[in-house]
Amino acid sequence: MAFINSELTEELKKFGIFDFSACYNCGNCTAVCSLTSEDESFPRNMLRYSMLGLKDEITVSLKPWLCYYCGDCSTYCPQKAYPGELMMTLRRWLTSKYDWTGLSGLLYKSVAWNVFAFLLVAAGVIAYAVCQNFSLEAIMHAGHVFEMLAIAGVFTLILLPNIIRMWYVTTIRAGIHAPSKVYLRQLSELFVHMFTQKRTLSCDDHKLRWFEHLILVIGYLSLLFITVFLNWFETGSVLINLFGYSVSAVVFIVTFHFVLERIRKTKEISMFSRSSDWFFVIWLFLMGFSAFLVRLFIDLNLLEQNLWLYLVHLIILAQWALLIVPFGKWTHFLYRSFAMYFQRIIEDHSNLSKK
Ligand code: SF4
Ligand code: SF4
Repeated sequence: MAFINSELTEELKKFGIFDFSACYNCGNCTAVCSLTSEDESFPRNMLRYSMLGLKDEITVSLKPWLCYYCGDCSTYCPQKAYPGELMMTLRRWLTSKYDWTGLSGLLYKSVAWNVFAFLLVAAGVIAYAVCQNFSLEAIMHAGHVFEMLAIAGVFTLILLPNIIRMWYVTTIRAGIHAPSKVYLRQLSELFVHMFTQKRTLSCDDHKLRWFEHLILVIGYLSLLFITVFLNWFETGSVLINLFGYSVSAVVFIVTFHFVLERIRKTKEISMFSRSSDWFFVIWLFLMGFSAFLVRLFIDLNLLEQNLWLYLVHLIILAQWALLIVPFGKWTHFLYRSFAMYFQRIIEDHSNLSKK
C-alpha cells in the first residue's frame, strides 16, 4: 500500500466512493484500460495523484473526463477498490472546482442541501402561482418566458464562466498557449463529442448505452426546441404536436431504462449511484413524462380543471433548469465535450511545436 495523503482522500470521499486503503498497486486496472499508453499509466496515475494529495496535478488534468466509465478497471481489480468509481468521483470533484459559485460542491456533498434547494424552487413556483390567483393562462405564459430566460441566464452567468475557468486551468495554467487557428481547426471535435459522445464506442460493452445516449440527446434537444421555440403547449399545428409527443415519449422511455439500470446495479457504471445521479435520471424522466401529460390534458380539454398538473411540470422544469443543469450531473455532458476539445488542442499544439 502506498503513502496516502488523507486530506485529499477524505475530501474525495465526500464526492464518491473509492477504497484507497484496498489498492495495493498491482497495475491490473492500467493493464486493461484503453486510455493507457506508453507515457500514461491510466487510471493509476490519477489514483497516485489522489493518494499523494496532488490537487494541482488533478485540477489541470483532463484525464478524468476522457474516461467513459466502461468499468473494465473495476471489474478486473482484485481488491474490489473500484478505480472506475474513482474516475467518476474525480469528475464530480473537478466540477466543483470549475464552478465559480461553489454551489456544485455543496450540492454534490450534501443531500440535505439538495432537498432544501429543491423545496425552495418548488416554493417559488407555488408562490408565483398564488400571486397570479392560479390563472392557468398567466402561469403558462410565465412558464414559457421562464424557459427562455433560464436557458440564457444559466448559460451566460454560470456555464460559460465555468467553461472559461476549466479552459484556463487545463490549458493556460498547464502552459499550453495554442494559436487561435488550432482552436478553430479542432472546433468540430467539440460538436461531434457533444452530440454523439463517440468515445463511448471504444468500450466494447457500451454499444447499446451509446445508442441510448444518442437517442436521449436528440430527444432532449428536440423537446427543448419544441417547448421553447415552437411553444408546444400553445401550438395548433398537428405536426409539431405529434413531434412533441414522440420526443417526450423518447425522453421518458430511455430515462426509465436508465433508472431501472441504477436500481438493478447490473453494470459497473450503475453500481454506485449518488444523489446527483438519481436526480439527473429521475428529473429527466419526470420532465419528459410531465410534458407529455400536460400536452395530452390540453388536447383532452382537461388542463383547466387540472392546473396542478401544469404546476407540477413547472416545478420539475424549474428544478431541472436552476439546479441540475448548472450545478448537477448535466454539466458532465458539457465538460466532457469541452475536455475532448481541449485535449485535441493540446495534442495539435504539441505536434506543431515539434515541427
Ligand atoms: S487494479 Fe485495483 S488494486 Fe490494482 S492498482 Fe488498480 S485499483 Fe489498485
Ligand atoms: S472505466 Fe474504463 S476508461 Fe475509465 S479508467 Fe476504467 S478502464 Fe479506463
